[in-house]
Amino acid sequence: MSDTSKPSWATRTLAAQALGHIDAATQAVVPPIHVSTTYIRDPDNQYRTGNIYARPDNETVREAEAIIAMLEGAKVAMVLGSGMSAATAVFLSLAPGDHVVAPEVMYWGLRNWLINEGRHWGLDVELVDTSSLDALRAAVRPGKTRLVWLETPSNPLWTITDIRAAADIAHAAGARLAVDSTVATPLLTRPLALGADIVMHSATKYLNGHSDVIAGALAASQDDDFWKRIKRTRATLGQILGPLETYMLIRGMRTLDLRVRAACANAMELALRLSNHAQVAQVLYPGLPSHPGHDVALRQMTGGFGGMLSIRVRGGEAAAIATAAGVTLWKRATSLGGVESLIEHRASIEGAGSPCPPDLLRLSAGVEEVEDLFADLDRALRAAG
Ligand code: PLP
Repeated sequence: MSDTSKPSWATRTLAAQALGHIDAATQAVVPPIHVSTTYIRDPDNQYRTGNIYARPDNETVREAEAIIAMLEGAKVAMVLGSGMSAATAVFLSLAPGDHVVAPEVMYWGLRNWLINEGRHWGLDVELVDTSSLDALRAAVRPGKTRLVWLETPSNPLWTITDIRAAADIAHAAGARLAVDSTVATPLLTRPLALGADIVMHSATKYLNGHSDVIAGALAASQDDDFWKRIKRTRATLGQILGPLETYMLIRGMRTLDLRVRAACANAMELALRLSNHAQVAQVLYPGLPSHPGHDVALRQMTGGFGGMLSIRVRGGEAAAIATAAGVTLWKRATSLGGVESLIEHRASIEGAGSPCPPDLLRLSAGVEEVEDLFADLDRALRAAG
């Protein structure tokens, strides 16, 4: 019987209080950080707490996982040592020979891993334009494809893929659908509610939000055999996040809602202003009607279009690099999703084989005053033009 006397609090309320857990021993409103690597066995040879050894078992990690499961509307969640370890734990839980479909435009580190190490491990990796449902339909092989991987919005063009339609295509072929939702955050898109089986985050980005923790997360709608296998992969490969970093991640997630709303508002305003800038040839942002994924983004993103945008600089590669060199407030660095705004000449980091145009600057909008952000960028664009 459901407890109707208990109100169902909003996600942002629950996140702000880190689910409101109070430490039973001390009544502390911030739970302790559990650092022990090992746990006492009961005299009758049992382990009734469920804790045996900290490579698989840590209570602080479980706290973070409960928050992530709540944010994603998931049954289960897992915290890992990085976004890459989260993604690769999924792929390494497949069997050699399994066919997987992934996007052409995606986080370059994972694309490179799939092409090099994933294939070396025996995966049959196929990269397609997942924003085209026809291309996706043509790529999946019924009975052979085990996993369709999406990233939406995807690095660095912010390509949008229709999660619901992709889930139907994957499931009809007998494959699972996993979504890297790092850029959308659980605030803007909930892939599991749209039919995905697994959602993945580089928690280094928005979930933590302060550019001071490398972390990853997975969440799933079912605690099935595949999930259990991923959990074993995390345990045996030692991919769990350390308790101190997990504590920082929990602290960061308390303000996820505030930070993401502020970043979305700044990104939208910057996208609009930069669309009219003489030195900017194109603005790539799913919130703009000119973006090819705008209609799908309108349907599947709620509350904003994210804090990430890219611009193509009219003067080409040299002008783009000069613009990045000319800013003083924006920080010239890789990564995204922190409270400080970052700018990056993306092709320089992605290297050969990247679909990133050489004149592209990737912008991670932080939470600073948008007038300051625009003024700094405007000055640098004009000087480089
Ligand atoms: N997925 C996306 C969309 C990313 O931007 C990144 C990192 O930039 C990753 C995954 C990898 O995450 P991490 O750096 O935490 O391993």
